Amino acid sequence: MTARLLLATRNGKKLDELRRILQPRMAVEVLGLADVPAFDEVPESGSSFAENALIKAVEAVKHTGLVTVADDSGLAVDALNGMPGVLSARWAGARHDDTANLNLLLEQLADTPQERLGASFVCAAALVTPDGSQIVREGRMPGRLIRSPRGTHGFGYDPIFVPDGYELTSAELPPADKDAISHRGKALRELLPFVLQALGGRDTEESQARDAR
Ligand code: IMP
Repeated sequence: MTARLLLATRNGKKLDELRRILQPRMAVEVLGLADVPAFDEVPESGSSFAENALIKAVEAVKHTGLVTVADDSGLAVDALNGMPGVLSARWAGARHDDTANLNLLLEQLADTPQERLGASFVCAAALVTPDGSQIVREGRMPGRLIRSPRGTHGFGYDPIFVPDGYELTSAELPPADKDAISHRGKALRELLPFVLQALGGRDTEESQARDAR
């Protein structure tokens, strides 16, 4: 029987990213919150990415009984002491609106010199199982911000973020290239052995070799 894993999100791009990482390794059906009976989602009230990821995963396991991964992520801007951070999705207000968030951030950084526009995307990914075990791993993608949005892939702040070592924004990179260096890709790959164990699968030697390259 195919194993089932819940990714506690409504973001289709996050679901695609986890599927691209997980499905070459095992037969697994990755469900999102839209695929399970609705429940009241708790507010992301934690003060760290790890806390928020755990809050989301614990709640989802309680309501669904499924092995669950949840992530919490955001953009940490050096010149803003790590903000928007855990407030990244709501920076311009409670309604999630990527364009409003991005424009507000650019306005706030209008007087900041280009050389101080260092930033990192950060992601904490939490695995929670119905028997109560909890594991959290974190990933970072360092880079810098630009003032004129470029690119149509990705979401959120991708059009103004250039990863270290690249000239393209993360919205201009093909999705598979972004996965290979992204904060979420790194956190999920760190979590992968525990996910496979929780679902009763085993990582293949071929997959491990590919990650080591
Ligand atoms: P979350 O869904 O609570 O993790 O909120 C993450 C927010 O951080 C998103 O709404 C985006 O604004 C931002 N963010 C996180 N990861 C990325 C990314 O890979 N690209 C662009 N923006 C991101």
